Amino acid sequence: MKLAVFSAKPYDREYLGGLAAKRDPLSEIETNFLDFSLSSDTAALANGADAVCVFVHDTLDAKVLQELHAGGVRAILLRCSGYNNVDLKEAEKLGLFVANVPSYSPEAVAEFAVALIQTLNRKTHRAYNRVRDGNFNLDGLLGRTLHGKTVGIVGVGRIGLALARIVQGFGCKLVAYDPSPTDVFKEYGEYTDLDTLLPQCDIVSLHCPLMDSTRHIINETTLAKMKQGAMLVNTSRGGLIDTGCVMKALKSKHLGGLALDVYEGEGALFYNDHSGDIIDDDLLMRLTAFHNVVVCGHQAFFTEEALTEIAECTLRNLDDWSKGVPTRNALVQVGRPMARRDSRLARL
Ligand code: NAD
Repeated sequence: MKLAVFSAKPYDREYLGGLAAKRDPLSEIETNFLDFSLSSDTAALANGADAVCVFVHDTLDAKVLQELHAGGVRAILLRCSGYNNVDLKEAEKLGLFVANVPSYSPEAVAEFAVALIQTLNRKTHRAYNRVRDGNFNLDGLLGRTLHGKTVGIVGVGRIGLALARIVQGFGCKLVAYDPSPTDVFKEYGEYTDLDTLLPQCDIVSLHCPLMDSTRHIINETTLAKMKQGAMLVNTSRGGLIDTGCVMKALKSKHLGGLALDVYEGEGALFYNDHSGDIIDDDLLMRLTAFHNVVVCGHQAFFTEEALTEIAECTLRNLDDWSKGVPTRNALVQVGRPMARRDSRLARL
């Protein structure tokens, strides 16, 4: 079984490669780690592989999927939960199996959202730099006590719910918007529509997936409905926010703070070192200059526990596909491995 792993980082080699080698001492999963992302320029490098393993910035549009299919690939394994970068209709048409890792430590992402909220609120990012410079002045570091504040969660799935549990511990009031409400959240707060949620929240945290219906869910109109001075947090997908409108809201001081782990144009930058480059994304560079904006490079998932779960689930998805066992992680449950008599997985 040949698996081409795109956008591979040292930690992918350690966790995914390490687990594959441990589970499969005869190395019948032949893992090829590729440092670059998948695109139409690089798809041919998967020729001969049975499956590809991809991450959030890999491109799997119709053209790339057709190229992969022509090269013999029959399975797409996402080592992430979001799948907005995959043309699922085309995958289905081609008979490609597609599976994701729907849940890997939702607490890791929720805890990171809280870390961003409290960094921005209590200004520890500024304090850290000041103290290193021998400046112990508190001017400009005034925060607000979270207890008693209203937090709005947009999208109460696994991560939104994990955030609700944590934030309840701070003594916050919780409201949520989700078109598919569940009873579980009702233990923590109330559901409402987005128009009602926005004006009452001191903090709005986004946890819905990026889809056509959620693209720019935060735009000029919805920003205007937010409470004056509120904080916006996005650890979900950059495309949920119209960044140009958010910039205007920050400049007019209507928006009081912005915490981003994800950014619309992140594909060109995130996960790589550009410290020696001139970055030509003026919007991002302007955002990082605001003292009330914190930007991180899509790292909310990045814990040892989450990487372990991602590796385990990805290899389980590969097993299930190769055995022809239906998996609940399948986004497209079609396609079977080509018969490879030399592969232990194919025989199972
Ligand atoms: P989930 O599928 O468990 O929950 C998503 C929720 O969003 C569901 O309850 C769904 O009903 C709701 N939803 C759908 N459309 C909506 C809309 N228009 N408005 C409001 N809610 C809507 O997903 P999850 O595991 O909680 O993950 C949420 C998102 O977080 C993922 O889609 C992914 O993009 C992102 N994510 C980011 C990181 C990171 O490292 N920053 C890591 C993992 C996941």
